[in-house]
Amino acid sequence: MTSTNYRGRIAPTPTGRLHLGHAQTFKTVYERCQRENGTLIYRDEDLDPQRCKQEFSEMALEDLRWLGIDWQEGPDVGGENGPYQQSKRMQHYLLAWEMLRNAGVIYPDTHSRKDLREVAAAHESWESVSAPHEEDEAREPLFPKQWRPPYGTGLDALEPGEVNWRFRVNDSETVAFFDMALGLTRFVADKDFGDFLIWRRDGVPSYELAVVVDDIAMSITEVVRGEDLLKSTARQLLIYRALEATPPAFYHCPLVRDAQGKRLAKRHDALSIRSLREAGKKPEEVQMLNQI
Ligand code: GLU
Repeated sequence: MTSTNYRGRIAPTPTGRLHLGHAQTFKTVYERCQRENGTLIYRDEDLDPQRCKQEFSEMALEDLRWLGIDWQEGPDVGGENGPYQQSKRMQHYLLAWEMLRNAGVIYPDTHSRKDLREVAAAHESWESVSAPHEEDEAREPLFPKQWRPPYGTGLDALEPGEVNWRFRVNDSETVAFFDMALGLTRFVADKDFGDFLIWRRDGVPSYELAVVVDDIAMSITEVVRGEDLLKSTARQLLIYRALEATPPAFYHCPLVRDAQGKRLAKRHDALSIRSLREAGKKPEEVQMLNQI
């Protein structure tokens, strides 16, 4: 029985096994939701058909239940706000794309990722990293302003088509928000991040768009996620504004790192929840393992 309007969510991407970093973040989501006597939603972020696998979607559900986390809405339990798999929510994303196009804040861009990497390498123009100690591999090229088409380009398009669509940021705008864990946090558009992807030319909506559309549609009141997504939160706030929607509260969790200080990733398979489980660890032990 839930008695408050608090709505949290767990939103893993099924591209590999969940690791200890996910266990920590999702435990925090669960605890914050429990404390508020709220509703927890499980959303499978299986948007990218090239990278996501059904096997990892199933494994994530099982591993999180094994850890002692449960949710009131999700792909395995249903609910009023489904479907809870992003791959089944394309109509919602298309509608948002249309709203952003009507608002004139996005435009089609024909440059490839390779073009972007080359120009960034030549001019040393990279987005600043958002989490403390974030390693070099997390750096992204800063989209060059001179590549922007004139304002109004593409606004007559009826569908996203086979080009990338980008959000046009206001240069030098400070995007500030109060993070429930870190306090006042700010980023500057065109320095910390440039015009960012809304829709990919291979037909897949961007993470930034999909997550905002779903958090609005599922009436999420607090987003709890890792510090590696701090800068994404700033980008997403611009999408909320363009869609004239009220953003949720945000709480960013510290990242779990390996002995070399690198944040956990798929290369750390020994630290996946499944491997620890297979090695005989108990759920309580895995939950306590936030340092390695
Ligand atoms: N699906 C994203 C991930 O696994 C996180 C989504 C979010 O918390 O916004 O990295």
